[in-house]
Amino acid sequence: CGIVGYIGTRLAVPVLLEGLKKLEYRGYDSAGIAVIEDGELVLNRSVGKLHMLEGKINGDAHQGHVGIGHTRWATHGRPSDRNSHPHTDCTGKIAVVHNGIIENFLELKEWLEENGHVFQSETDTEVLPHLVEHFHQGDLLRAVEQMVSKVRGSYATVVLSEDHPGTLVAARKDNPLIVGLGEGEYFFASDIPAIINYTRKIMVLEDGEIAVLTAEGVKVYKNGSPVEKEIQLITWDT
Ligand code: GLU
Repeated sequence: CGIVGYIGTRLAVPVLLEGLKKLEYRGYDSAGIAVIEDGELVLNRSVGKLHMLEGKINGDAHQGHVGIGHTRWATHGRPSDRNSHPHTDCTGKIAVVHNGIIENFLELKEWLEENGHVFQSETDTEVLPHLVEHFHQGDLLRAVEQMVSKVRGSYATVVLSEDHPGTLVAARKDNPLIVGLGEGEYFFASDIPAIINYTRKIMVLEDGEIAVLTAEGVKVYKNGSPVEKEIQLITWDT
C-alpha cells in the first residue's frame, strides 16, 4: 500500500525504512525492501509490522545506495513472508514493488509459465518482475514499457535490477506515485510525507507515464516520448 524508492549518496536502508514509517498511515500487513549492495540484489521481507522487517534486516545491505521499499495491503495471496514485496524474477536479479491490482495476472502467469518462468508467490504482482525479465534485452526502460503494455489493472510500481545498479524505473496507472528531487539524490514515493525530510521538490507522475531515476536526474516518458514535467515546491510542514 506504500512505496519508497531511493538512489543517491546516502545509505539506502535507513531512508527506505523511514519513508515506509511515514506511509504507515495508509495501512499494511507486511513490508519489505530490496537494495543493491556490491552489485548484488539483497532482499528482506516480513509479514507484520515494520519492526519485524527491521529485525530481519539486522545489518544486511547496509552499504547499498539504491533500493526500493514496500508496505503491502494484500489483495491477492494471504499476508505472508513469501507474498510480501519486493517480488523477484527467476534469476533473483530483478525486484519489483507494486501497489494496485493486476487484473489479467492469471492469464499472464499461465503464459509466463509456458515460457519457463517459475512462480514463488500467490500474488498478482509477481507477474511484473517475470515480465521485465522476459522482455529485458539490455534496456530496462524498454522492458518496463513492454511490461506495462501487457498489463491490465491499476499500478504504481518501481523496478530495480542488478544489471542496472544505477537506475530505478517506475510506472503508474490509477495509483499515486511521486518523484522527489534532491541534490544528487532522487526518490520515488506514494506520498509526500515519505520524502519531505529530504526534499521539497517533487514531480507528480500521471497515468501512463514511466519515470527513470539515476543519480544524475529524472527523465519521464509517455508513449515512448520524453515529457516535460513541472517541478512543484512543497511549502507546508508535516
Ligand atoms: N495486489 C498486490 C498484492 O496483493 C499489491 C497490494 C498493495 O497495493 O499493497 O500483493
